Amino acid sequence: MPISDQLEWDSPMYREAVAQFDRVSELMDLDDNVRERLKRPQRALVVTFPFRTDDYSRVETLFGYRVQHLLTMGPTKGGIRYADDVNLGEVAALAMLMTWKCAIVGLPFGGAKGGVRVDPSALSRAEVQRVTRRFTAEIINHIGPQQDIPAPDLGTDAQVMAWMMDTYSQHEGHAVPAVVTGKPPELGGSVARREATGRGVLALLPPAANQVGMPVTDARVVVQGFGNVGRYAAIAASEMGCRVVAVSDVSGGVHNSNGLEVAKLARWVDERGGVAGFPGADRVENKELLALPCEVLIPAAVGGVIHGENAGSIQAKLILEGANNPTTLEADDQLRDAGVFIVPDILANAGGVTVSYFEWVQDLQNYFWSENEIVARLREIMARAFDEVLSVSIENNVDMRTAALMKGIKRVTGAKLVRGVYP
Ligand code: NAD
Repeated sequence: MPISDQLEWDSPMYREAVAQFDRVSELMDLDDNVRERLKRPQRALVVTFPFRTDDYSRVETLFGYRVQHLLTMGPTKGGIRYADDVNLGEVAALAMLMTWKCAIVGLPFGGAKGGVRVDPSALSRAEVQRVTRRFTAEIINHIGPQQDIPAPDLGTDAQVMAWMMDTYSQHEGHAVPAVVTGKPPELGGSVARREATGRGVLALLPPAANQVGMPVTDARVVVQGFGNVGRYAAIAASEMGCRVVAVSDVSGGVHNSNGLEVAKLARWVDERGGVAGFPGADRVENKELLALPCEVLIPAAVGGVIHGENAGSIQAKLILEGANNPTTLEADDQLRDAGVFIVPDILANAGGVTVSYFEWVQDLQNYFWSENEIVARLREIMARAFDEVLSVSIENNVDMRTAALMKGIKRVTGAKLVRGVYP
């Protein structure tokens, strides 16, 4: 194998991201030079650092990563994850996908991703804080409001972002809120960030319903997952006049063909920790949930839930992918053949990064918008992105997933070509 092919970030996930990019570049007849360039992240940083456990007698060495895929159009943007299997190949793949996602909705960012290989559930909060502060110190020369802006991801939260912001600010000598997004509101975090992804998904329901000639009012909606994405998708669906007939989470699912009272269900989940047992609804298993009669299915939990074995039982006309990668390639083909209209994850769940972009803009200006302004701008950006992806899909006679990638890749390629090669 030639040296150039032995990529440091090689992994099954990275190879998959490149294969997807290659497939779409082929269809686009992409400039070969740019194509080769975009396959590799521009910067990939691996750090190791010491971490002292609470008992103070043990010091472990941890691995941390930050990958910046593309620095062409502005700072890079992407989450920081803490998990015991985080590796360079995974974050490099996710950084590439973030580049396309930002470009699809027209944000002035390249993609990034990072993380620490550690199981956060095995750490005390004090230990998570020490890991966060030392990791931030190790990558400090590579992040910043004009360089690279981390956000929460798997195993990290608003508090972790607050510690990152504090560590960065201590080194700078003044408060720098714009260095991270997804912060607590006290530090300049945006209102409506938690709801953003779910609301963004539903912003695409009216134009997508239009494509399948279906009214939104009284449309039956099934939502898998009732976390940050699923809960607010269900709330937004019921606010739009849809009938949310079933919802599930790890505790199981609940179903009522007349529609569930979503606000009451949310309060139930806050009190009981899960949807199971919600009064006035029948219990339904997660695998039956996907096959329930409905017009709209919103997978908003985990990846790979719609696969070759269950795709044939899906009755929805429209799938809005709230989760990342909920549909396998095999299922994607089957559903397309069956005439199901799929709004792909890379477009459907881009509301989260869009409101993160708003947070960054507000922090830089020290001027904060109202919730109504944020929601209105989010809807406008999502609806425009949908229209643009739909046009690409019609012009090129390709599905929405391919069209979304074509749009993202085209925007990035255009920027690369006009900047030229330095020196
Ligand atoms: P979360 O942890 O807040 O919620 C996940 C929900 O899914 C919970 O209700 C959980 O009980 C449920 N769940 C987990 N496993 C399940 C299973 N096997 N069957 C049914 N339900 C199950 O996570 P989230 O932030 O809502 O993210 C959900 C998905 O959306 C993930 O794929 C994530 O990568 C993606 N996503 C999230 C955001 C965001 O802003 N939060 C943005 C883009 C994409």
